[in-house]
Amino acid sequence: MTAPRRPVIAVVGGGIAGLSAAWELVTSSDMATGAGPPIVHVLEADNRVGGKLDSAEFAGRTVDLAADAFLARRPEATELCEQIGVSDELVPMGTTGTSILARGRLRPMPAALNLGVPTRWWPLARSGLLSPGESLRVIKDLVMPHLGAAALSGDRSVADIIGERLGRPVVERLVDPLIGGINAGGVDELSAAATFPALITASQRTGSLMRSLGRLPRPEGSGPVFWSLRQGTASLVDRLAGRLVDPRSAWDVSIHTGVSVNAITQASGDPSGGRTWSLTLGGSNAAGITGDGDGVLAVDGIVLALPAQPASVLLAVHSPMAAGLLSAIDYASVSVATLAVPPDAINHRLDGTGFLVPRTSPIGGRPALMTGCTYLSRKWPHLASAGTELIRVSVGRYGDERHTRLDDDELTAATFGELAQVLDIRGGYSDSRVTRWPGAFPQYRVGHLVRVAEIEEAVAALPGMAVAGSAYRGVGIPACVGSGRSAARAVLASLGEFGR
Ligand SMILES: Cc1cc2nc3c(=O)[nH]c(=O)nc-3n(C[C@H](O)[C@H](O)[C@H](O)COP(=O)(O)OP(=O)(O)OC[C@H]3O[C@@H](n4cnc5c(N)ncnc54)[C@H](O)[C@@H]3O)c2cc1C
Repeated sequence: MTAPRRPVIAVVGGGIAGLSAAWELVTSSDMATGAGPPIVHVLEADNRVGGKLDSAEFAGRTVDLAADAFLARRPEATELCEQIGVSDELVPMGTTGTSILARGRLRPMPAALNLGVPTRWWPLARSGLLSPGESLRVIKDLVMPHLGAAALSGDRSVADIIGERLGRPVVERLVDPLIGGINAGGVDELSAAATFPALITASQRTGSLMRSLGRLPRPEGSGPVFWSLRQGTASLVDRLAGRLVDPRSAWDVSIHTGVSVNAITQASGDPSGGRTWSLTLGGSNAAGITGDGDGVLAVDGIVLALPAQPASVLLAVHSPMAAGLLSAIDYASVSVATLAVPPDAINHRLDGTGFLVPRTSPIGGRPALMTGCTYLSRKWPHLASAGTELIRVSVGRYGDERHTRLDDDELTAATFGELAQVLDIRGGYSDSRVTRWPGAFPQYRVGHLVRVAEIEEAVAALPGMAVAGSAYRGVGIPACVGSGRSAARAVLASLGEFGR
């Protein structure tokens, strides 16, 4: 009897979701195919892996150019750090607390918030974020009758739920900067079920929304809220990629950069030797993979770890329904300006990790370009140096593309101008770097999770195929890690069935 053939699996997209999928494919102990770990090809169109995770040398330090932290409360990323042996490189934030630019100045966020939503009235009233009249309006939540689940069911926008109970100023000054900021979108459109599921639970209880949110179980323990790594959050992808191709491991993983997957065709299904799928490859390094140089790679399984648009293109022939739903997911583009500023030029105290700018708070009498600012060298002590403050300014959100019309010099000048006004900076910056992130943040509209379930179900009907990444069930790094790993398990399970 011949041994079962080792499956070949392509992971399309070498972001954190794709690399996590590759890790799961080779380390998963439950080998459904019975043929040993699969042969894995990670195919990445860019000339580096990491996707939305990247870092660069800046002002003498390694600085993250996009994600600079991941949530500790969700286990997926920290578990992965343990498994790849980088737990001892985890670093907690050096400070906590964020301010909000509201009513003309920076004001610390009040205590007792649950993802930007107040759970107690008094700290909110004292924060100065709201006028006295606006604070009084919030009390209505404590007394207004609410019928709970009997009255409401299904998904709603974040703003809809909170605005109804706590009033529009709370939405605009706290919730939109925080939840909208995490997703580079607006809470008027963002799905509560997809971005803040606890809000749906709380809104379906009777009585006050603030009290219901306050009573929901909180994560246990007093450890850090966010982690980074000593060499930057982006080093997670370098370390993971390094482990995947470690010659001392028994795995057969190859990571190909500069290789895009341009089309997928289903092979005719020869059960003895034929593989199920053929990938048509493009890009500068495609010829190196297939050996005979025809640019076609035959595989048994595929994890599509791509943003929604390229995933939609590749799925169009095989599942028009999934492709249609994917193509309807909109994305927001953002840019990041990293600045090095002499500390003695900054006349405002740099408290906490930075500040957020509500879209309703102008700077210098004009609608602000910046959406937030991180005091990088305060937030991460390993970035601190006596002669420079490293400050990162974020610009752009869904519906605000002004930053895309400015070149790097103009964007730097505009963001530094706003920063100088807020922080009373007298003098210039000593170094700057602009990073563009086009199509970075998927917009989870109301009903998103229902559509995702439909996409997943349609893709599960294709043998050995699954989707992963930030387009589906969370944009944060832990969610993307979890998504990659569960897509890998789905592909293995499908190959197990298919091989029997
Ligand atoms: C500015 C910014 C700040 C952020 N801050 C945080 C933060 O602090 N904390 C946090 O948890 N998250 C943060 N995020 C979100 C998080 O970084 C992303 O959601 C996550 O990295 C997305 O990973 P992914 O693997 O799903 O997608 P991606 O990183 O987009 O990877 C997909 C990959 O697919 C490749 N690709 C596309 N088409 C093809 C093709 N046809 N063939 C082959 N390859 C292809 C792309 O080149 C890309 O590398 C931030 C994101 C940005 C942009």
